[in-house]
Amino acid sequence: MRIHLLGTGGAEGVPAMFGDTRVSAHARKYGGREVRTRCSAIVDGQLQLDFGPDTWAQLLRDGISASDWCAVVYTHADADHFAIEELQYALYPFTDGEEPGFVIYGNNIVSARVRARYPDWPFEVVTTKSFVPFQLCGYTVTPVKARHGSPDEDTQNLLIESDGKSLLYATDTGIWDEPTWEFLSGASLDALVLECTEGFEITPYNGHLDIQEFEEVVDRLRKMGTVRDDTRVVSTHHSHNGKATYEEMVEALGKFDAVAGYDGYSFEV
Ligand SMILES: [Zn+2]
Repeated sequence: MRIHLLGTGGAEGVPAMFGDTRVSAHARKYGGREVRTRCSAIVDGQLQLDFGPDTWAQLLRDGISASDWCAVVYTHADADHFAIEELQYALYPFTDGEEPGFVIYGNNIVSARVRARYPDWPFEVVTTKSFVPFQLCGYTVTPVKARHGSPDEDTQNLLIESDGKSLLYATDTGIWDEPTWEFLSGASLDALVLECTEGFEITPYNGHLDIQEFEEVVDRLRKMGTVRDDTRVVSTHHSHNGKATYEEMVEALGKFDAVAGYDGYSFEV
């Protein structure tokens, strides 16, 4: 399984469009890995995880074609992950007449909004539920309940398994509630992509992780055996308000054997 991070920024990206924190100013000046577009990823060039406002530019930047998508799996309905208006470009008259073949998977809110916005959507739209696995394009995907956003929304992290390999893609979550820990106790991960939105800014907000909480989550997963010695642990979803540049994240995460993710980072498990 090849995992490719298309975007590793928080909702407003780095640099933030408005405002000029030290981290934003640093990203404007140095560019490269300091610049983070909105969060999404793709597995094996075909399984798109979230379709946010920067996806068009990300695919172009990294030489990936949306024509190869077999499915888009959304984690939740926040605007940085779910740019619903972008879906229209998969339909006539924006296409060359070829209908794209991807299936849309999303939670209760995502699927209801897609059906309402595109009543004549020609492809399958599947409502996903936490802890209910589904099969697609040779993968088994099990959404696990994230701790993020409104209690009315089934916000999800995604366990993706194929050919005996497994990835947990955990963008947008605070420290999980017990049912998620219990579920993950049965998993053995080859890769963990875990958010670190708040970076060095230690806050009481429990819908995202700061670096201390990131370490706490990884430690507990290591003790459970879910994260093994050879599991690749990678961060994503970084905010400029986390007060950490890319280089500073590399140093901080390296202390506990985690990799600071960046846009375009790609690896095989
Ligand atoms: Zn987000």
